[in-house]
Amino acid sequence: MSARILRWREGDNEKLLKQAADILSHGGLVAIPTETVYGLAADATNGEAVARIFAAKGRPRFNPLIAHVADLAMARSCARFDARAERLAQAFWPGPLTLVLPLAEGAPVHPLVTAGLGTIAIRRPSGPSAELIARFGRPLAAPSANPSGRLSPTSAAHVAEGLGESIDAIIDAGPCRVGLESTIVSLAGQAPRLLRPGGLNAAQIEAVLGERLLAPETVSGEARKIEAPGMMSSHYAPRAALRLDAARVEPGEALLAFGPALPENAGEAVATRNLSPAGSLVEAAASLFAFLHELDRSGAAVIAVAPVPRQGLGAAINDRLARAAAPRA
Ligand code: AMP
Ligand code: MG
Repeated sequence: MSARILRWREGDNEKLLKQAADILSHGGLVAIPTETVYGLAADATNGEAVARIFAAKGRPRFNPLIAHVADLAMARSCARFDARAERLAQAFWPGPLTLVLPLAEGAPVHPLVTAGLGTIAIRRPSGPSAELIARFGRPLAAPSANPSGRLSPTSAAHVAEGLGESIDAIIDAGPCRVGLESTIVSLAGQAPRLLRPGGLNAAQIEAVLGERLLAPETVSGEARKIEAPGMMSSHYAPRAALRLDAARVEPGEALLAFGPALPENAGEAVATRNLSPAGSLVEAAASLFAFLHELDRSGAAVIAVAPVPRQGLGAAINDRLARAAAPRA
């Protein structure tokens, strides 16, 4: 498969918007031009579509993605805005500012977008991508449109070079105006914190807030990891302990299965979920957070987890399972 190039022409994009929205509504991936860098977008409500982002980028872990919205109303359906968030959105949206806010009840966003967190990173871009999101009617999850570990793309040609064979379409609207990732500010805690410096100057943000931004944690490697919540080793662990690569179910355990072949005593599990009876890693990635929650609610002290293959998306699934199984402080 080679990505279709959809060329943006000012004032004449009806057909392009329809094509791109069609691809997205079928769970496909479209690279979108924003003022920061090109993003790799999927329907944020569709877990399998979001899982394909991780597969296409070859990301080894499920770190949270930025939800891109068309307007403030869509933003408010995703996140709880306080007065500070309202002020920043008024001042800088559309633009290169991402806000991390408490996730709204019933937000139209799959848990894989937020890596199962109670917070969401949200941004309102300008230009073609805003028009596409408005047309699509739902938020788009989008990290930068480059293979994991490579430079962020600031042109359609960069995207084609890195991901041209693994995504459905690229909207080409020329080079990105800012060319740097968005600045990320968290308002989820007491004090506003700069999580990532980027295309919007921190001093401008502080001027609107009337207070200083706490610095990104730079004290040590460990502290920095905690700032990116998806990285915390036991982050979002269930209450139950996880027993990985389980071939059998022990008495009292719940079972998280994968694939058509269940452990021979699977019937003894107090509760069972199968990440993908057909053995699809995309389906498994999309189910992972919800099923861990559900099995946790079964009250079992231990969740036995069947082996999940480690290739492709399986690497990220196993990474997340290993973190959930890690001993907690
Ligand atoms: P990228 O995938 O390059 O667009 O970067 C997204 C950035 O947003 C990463 O640094 C994430 O750790 C950060 N991020 C996304 N969601 C959250 C969240 N809920 N809380 C804190 N940081 C987040
Ligand atoms: Mg990136």
